Amino acid sequence: MPKPLIGITCGTSALDPSAKNLQDRLNHSYSRAVARAGGIPVVIPNATTSGHPHDLLARLDGLLLSGGYDVAPDLYGERKVNDTVEVDSERDAAEMALIPKAIEIGMPILAICRGIQVLNVALGGTLIQDIPSQVETSICHSQKADRHVAVHRVSVEAGSRLCDALGTERLDVNSFHHQALKRAAAGLRVTAAAPDGTIEGVEGIGEGFLLGVQWHPEEMLDVQEPARKLFSAFVSAAAGCSGGRG
Ligand code: MN
Repeated sequence: MPKPLIGITCGTSALDPSAKNLQDRLNHSYSRAVARAGGIPVVIPNATTSGHPHDLLARLDGLLLSGGYDVAPDLYGERKVNDTVEVDSERDAAEMALIPKAIEIGMPILAICRGIQVLNVALGGTLIQDIPSQVETSICHSQKADRHVAVHRVSVEAGSRLCDALGTERLDVNSFHHQALKRAAAGLRVTAAAPDGTIEGVEGIGEGFLLGVQWHPEEMLDVQEPARKLFSAFVSAAAGCSGGRG
C-alpha cells in the first residue's frame, strides 16, 4: 500500500514586514513530523483551495491544519478586541472552505494551534481573542522558551480518542498561542484542558479521525512520546482511509 498523502495548510509572509516577495510559508517541523510518522507531506498554498476544495481533497488521504495567524473575529460574530489580533483573510477563506468538505467525506484531520481554532470557527464555535488581556491566569501560554520546551500541564479526558492517540491522560506541553477556544462548536467535544481551564484539545463527535490540539506536538517529537504517538495515530488513520479517492 502506498504511503498516505497528507495535505498541510500553510500561511504566507503577508504580515511579515521584512519579506519583500510574498511567500507561502510553513514551519519545517510539520512536514518533518508527517514524514517521520510514515506519511508523504504536501504543502497546500491558500490559492490552491479557494472555491474548489474537492479537487484537492479528492487527491489527499489526510489533512493537517497547521499553526499561523489569527482567524478573523467577524467569522464568529465579533469585532477585534485589540491590535494583537492579526488576521490572514486569504488563509481564512481557504481553510473555511476546506474543513467542512473534508469532514463531510470523512477525511482524517489533525488540527494544531491556529488549526484547532479555525476548525472550531468553521464548525460554528467562537474564540477568546487575546488571552493576556481577556483571561486572568498565572499560566504562560505564549512562551519565550525554545519550541520543544514544555511550559504547562494538560489533562486529557480518560477514554477519549485524543487520550487513545496520545497514550496518556496527562502531559506537559509547549504553548505558543495568545488565543484559545471559547465556545466549542456543536460538532466538537472538549477533551483536554490546561490547569487554568484553557481548552487545549478537542475531538469530533462523529466516526472519523478528527483531533485538535492547542499546543505544538510537531516541535516535541524528539523529547516526548505522546507527540510521536499523536502523529502516528493520524498518519495511520489516513493510511486506512481511502479519502476522496475511494
Ligand atoms: Mn497553552
